[in-house]
Amino acid sequence: MDAFATLRPHLDRCGADAWALVASIGNRTAAPPPGITRPTYSAAEELAAEAVIAFARERRLVVNPDAFGNLHVTRPGDPAGRAVASGSHLDSVPNGGNYDGLAGAVAAVTVLAAAEAAGLRLRRPLLAIAMRGEESPWFGTAYIGSRLMLGHSTLPEIGDLRRADSGRGLADHLRALGYPGAPGAVLDPADLDCFLELHIEQGPLLEAADAPLGIASAIRGNVRFPSARCRGVYGHSAALPRSHRQDAVLAVAELALALDTYWAGLIGRGDDSFVATVGKFFTDPSQHAMTKVAGEVGFSLNVGSTTPDVLAAARAFILDEVARISAKRGVVFDLGPEVGTAPVALSARLIGMAEDSASALGIPALRMPTVGHDAAMFALKGVEASVLLMRNQNGSHNPDESMTEEDFLSGVRVLARTMLLAADAG
Ligand SMILES: [Zn+2]
Repeated sequence: MDAFATLRPHLDRCGADAWALVASIGNRTAAPPPGITRPTYSAAEELAAEAVIAFARERRLVVNPDAFGNLHVTRPGDPAGRAVASGSHLDSVPNGGNYDGLAGAVAAVTVLAAAEAAGLRLRRPLLAIAMRGEESPWFGTAYIGSRLMLGHSTLPEIGDLRRADSGRGLADHLRALGYPGAPGAVLDPADLDCFLELHIEQGPLLEAADAPLGIASAIRGNVRFPSARCRGVYGHSAALPRSHRQDAVLAVAELALALDTYWAGLIGRGDDSFVATVGKFFTDPSQHAMTKVAGEVGFSLNVGSTTPDVLAAARAFILDEVARISAKRGVVFDLGPEVGTAPVALSARLIGMAEDSASALGIPALRMPTVGHDAAMFALKGVEASVLLMRNQNGSHNPDESMTEEDFLSGVRVLARTMLLAADAG
């Protein structure tokens, strides 16, 4: 592909600068230790935005922050038309890693900077978007910047959400940083040809497969019971025979193990998209004791899949098991409120272009499902979307999250070539 050959030397130069930019933002948002903390609509997230703006403007790109602080980066001479867009988010979880979000946001700007330096003329305009507030710990909900920008939610609807650390409202935080929060949606999905997100993998599969790149097949949806309870009866640990126990710990443990066996069965039948997690499991510290049979357990259930039918079947399995275990053990389950999201299909056309790019560049790539990212907000608005995953070490949402410069540059190259293919496609 001629355009990519022209781009390549500029991309390698800009890519090295971009890696230094990511490191420098990390160094300046590393307090309090450990790890990286860039709260949604905080001074630290704002620092990251300002550094990205400076990087883009130094490379003759045009930057427009929108009403919610998302950065829209364009090339001055691009033609009008539906844009080939890419981006990710600038915030982090508390004491998280530097690459989750930031690496993809900077990569998108890097592609535009290199295209500008190379003087590429393309059929479609390129757009890089650095988004705000993707991580849910701050306001209790994810994708705030992209949701507001694309009109999934309005500020009047969610402006009263309070940030966990400051206790202040979302609208208040926006105002304090000088973002008007109005008008509402500022990016019309009809103006986009497609949206590609480059993101770290956050899991161990690429490392295990010795592949620097993943190409997401779909974004998992989930069914979640965040605050379930099981009530049994407290009893004397020595005096109560097994036949008379209504043990809440064993009941929830049996449910968790049944779900794990169900998961293993799905894997055995070739379904690698399913996940199941009991992330919370606790007795009541004001009542529990080593010498008491547990009378109550609080827990959470969280199952995910890329296929709606698999999610529905898992949900039915959970309800059947709850009924069976209740009868067997004399306990009462209350699963509490149910929340969840639908799986999001990703674009077969973009997956094909990304696979073509990875193979043309000699970069081993693995097709795999992924978790929720800003790209889901675009796909749910009918924009063709794709997620490319960079190999990273030590997982994510923790201070040990890690990535090599070479893997970052491989991701940038595949992203760039895929964007050029999309921007020149008929
Ligand atoms: Zn992320």
